[in-house]
Amino acid sequence: MRALLILSALLGAVFGHEDFVGHQVLRISAANEAQVQKVKELEELEHLQLDFWRGPAQPGSSIDVRVPFASVQAVKMFLETNKLSYNIMIEDVQALLDEEQEQMFAFQTRAANTDTFNYAIYHNLDEIYSFMDMLVAENPQLVSKIQIGSTYEGRPIFVLKFSTGTQGEKRPAIWIDTGIHSREWVTQASGIWFAKKIAQDFGQDQTLTTILNSMDIFLEIVTNPDGFAFTHSKNRLWRKTRSRTEGSACVGVDPNRNWDAAFGKPGASNNPCTETYHGKFANSESEVKSIVDFVTNHGNIKAFISIHSYSQLLLYPYGYTKDPTPAHQELDQLAKEAVTALSAVYGTKYKYGSIYTTIYQASGNTVDWTYDQGIKYSYTFELRDTGRYGFLLPASQIVPTAQETWAALMTIMAHVEKHPY
Ligand SMILES: [Zn+2]
Repeated sequence: MRALLILSALLGAVFGHEDFVGHQVLRISAANEAQVQKVKELEELEHLQLDFWRGPAQPGSSIDVRVPFASVQAVKMFLETNKLSYNIMIEDVQALLDEEQEQMFAFQTRAANTDTFNYAIYHNLDEIYSFMDMLVAENPQLVSKIQIGSTYEGRPIFVLKFSTGTQGEKRPAIWIDTGIHSREWVTQASGIWFAKKIAQDFGQDQTLTTILNSMDIFLEIVTNPDGFAFTHSKNRLWRKTRSRTEGSACVGVDPNRNWDAAFGKPGASNNPCTETYHGKFANSESEVKSIVDFVTNHGNIKAFISIHSYSQLLLYPYGYTKDPTPAHQELDQLAKEAVTALSAVYGTKYKYGSIYTTIYQASGNTVDWTYDQGIKYSYTFELRDTGRYGFLLPASQIVPTAQETWAALMTIMAHVEKHPY
């Protein structure tokens, strides 16, 4: 075991990857408010280098945290001393990463077209960008690629447009983005699958064809390209952007706390070293600003769906306040229908509700901003799973995840098409 650990660490060092040998993911149950507070104290202990994958939130909801090898003993001691119960969800994070890498390399081939493209494995940025070009080349009447901006590190930010309209026409539109948090790999992988599905089903599937006959669909598959490239080259578990903050050695901003909706209020951090750092000012991140400009200039987006993982949730505004939106009843009813359609595919169970009441307060998040811009149908998904693998969902689950999510997306899109506003 020890020899294996050393070998794995050495390989990591050779390839320049951050290694996660001996890191564990613990699930902590905090039954009451006092226990939640204790976990928040733990979160404040920066030297432990903890990475909270989920929570802390309300009492009763579980908290998942990745603990570096060097902190495992201290954290377990803290939990036991404070009578917080926990169990080990992932025994060794690196072991899962090694499996993931093996799979990627074993099945990696350059597809010549989108029919032979392998949707059942994870792909890097170059492969995804070349997939997009193939899809556009194969479906020039339906699909086009728009560059909406550039990242902090200078990478192009692309959106696929699916449209049967004429050029320059701004039809009512549906926006879908995946991967704003770069480590949530099943989301970008699902985005690829959605793109192919739309191209394939147009003209075949009655409901989708009806939608595309009057509306456009915009799909941003890699919403945080710098972060995504970094998850492949250096650190698989990178969440934020890669922008630098003056006066801090810590890199990146949480692009789901950087929007101009209750920016900087509770539910976001002003510490650049945390995973929920909101940035110096609203829209400071070009990955966010590019979408803001696009949405504002377009002016006719009717649904905005931002896709994350994990936890199996379908959420709607608000995240910054517990007050319901004026559209609460309709959004809730539609969420219920969407998760029912999703569950019908493979039996996957989803919860739904407002961000604030279902998970936790989150200010400056995407869909609060889009809702406040007048985009009534603003939703956030948290895809599979509920924590067995967390962000490291095995590639064998990509296609089933995409398929079931598509059922929910179709429910929402069909509703939007039938309820113009
Ligand atoms: Zn996320």
